[in-house]
Amino acid sequence: MDGAIARRLSEAIRCKTVTPDALGGADFYEFDKLRRCLEAAYPRVHASLSRETVEGYSLLYHWKGSRPKNAIALLAHQDVVPASESGWKHPPFEGEIAEGYVWGRGAIDMKCQLICILEACEALLAEGFQPENDVYLVFGHNEESVRDTGAQSIAQMLEERGVQLSLVLDEGSHYCEFGENSAAFLAVCEKGYADIRLSCVSSGGHASIPGKHTALGRVCRAVAALEKNPMPARLKEPVAGMLKAATWLLPRPHRAFAKMGLFPGLCVRALAKTDKGAALVRTTMAATMANGSDLPNVLPDLAEAVLNCRIAPWDTLDGLLAHMRRVVNDPRVEIEAVKSTPPTPVSDMSSAAYALVAKEAQKLYPSAAIAPYIMLAATDSRFFHRICPCVIRFSPFKSMARDVKTMHAQNERVSIESLGEAAGFFRGVITGNG
Ligand SMILES: [Zn+2]
Repeated sequence: MDGAIARRLSEAIRCKTVTPDALGGADFYEFDKLRRCLEAAYPRVHASLSRETVEGYSLLYHWKGSRPKNAIALLAHQDVVPASESGWKHPPFEGEIAEGYVWGRGAIDMKCQLICILEACEALLAEGFQPENDVYLVFGHNEESVRDTGAQSIAQMLEERGVQLSLVLDEGSHYCEFGENSAAFLAVCEKGYADIRLSCVSSGGHASIPGKHTALGRVCRAVAALEKNPMPARLKEPVAGMLKAATWLLPRPHRAFAKMGLFPGLCVRALAKTDKGAALVRTTMAATMANGSDLPNVLPDLAEAVLNCRIAPWDTLDGLLAHMRRVVNDPRVEIEAVKSTPPTPVSDMSSAAYALVAKEAQKLYPSAAIAPYIMLAATDSRFFHRICPCVIRFSPFKSMARDVKTMHAQNERVSIESLGEAAGFFRGVITGNG
């Protein structure tokens, strides 16, 4: 069975659905090819579910249930990031099956999930299964683009139709191994995003008479102050829940405290010792771009720096800007957000939908801790919070514990044995949704 899924995934990888704004425009022929490939591979799905095309290439399938309650949506994007042909052990768009893996761009991110969702539906239809509740399949076509609009349009359409979902499941976090311990992380929220520009104007002049501070010097001083004074670290949900479920993420003396919810300050400090841990407990600010004068002997009349910030669910853009202005404390340095998206709400972890996903994840990984998590990157699922109280980002592939590093990189691959397991996971979610 796994071999057959691997072959269908391989065919999907051979459709070179590089995301539309990469390399100066998509080859939409490849998106049509993928659509035809899915039609051929999953005849029952295409006979029994209605399918709409949105923005030309995003796909919305609807499997009508016998009663219109607790509808769920399973998400996956069809597009992939580009891949250079050189340096790969197996070419990126051949979908070669070798050494127990399916290789190629999209194997992990995220044609594996797209295929395994369809595998689950096709197998259930073959058995004559009829869902009680509606099942939507949402396959966006430009998630990896700057203009990520396909899934957003579908979310809007569903909202306009008055659809309420009890569960949205998308890519995101996954199973991880930490020595003898392991965890399946269910990401229940996403951090927000902000590009914040610090700028300072001056009248310029000759660099031989610079005065005490140049405009660039002021901006640099501001950046240094912000690195020294980050946003406060906090132990809030879902990270508090994550530490309760996986206390071994902390040094030994702290574990009992995390379990009992005691001394949050101590636990936060321990977690924030690593870069990844710090990103989980606070809004981060990363200075990424800067410029000043165009010549070494000319004082800049404008200097600026951009900080790429990721806003924790308990913080806001306004709170972040206030913190930055307080720390910089220089009226000549202007601080403004040039682009921002707020953090998502935190999904309801006491819901039946969360319990269902946790139960299926536990079946897949019997000895792993099942822990809530904050997604540090963005997914299509962020558009669905308005119509769903329980949005979960989780990719049920065991192979990810080791192969997630091939995502957006060379030699992207997913293990064949992960595929059947993942199809079983989606099957469990569809049939268990009462
Ligand atoms: Zn992805």
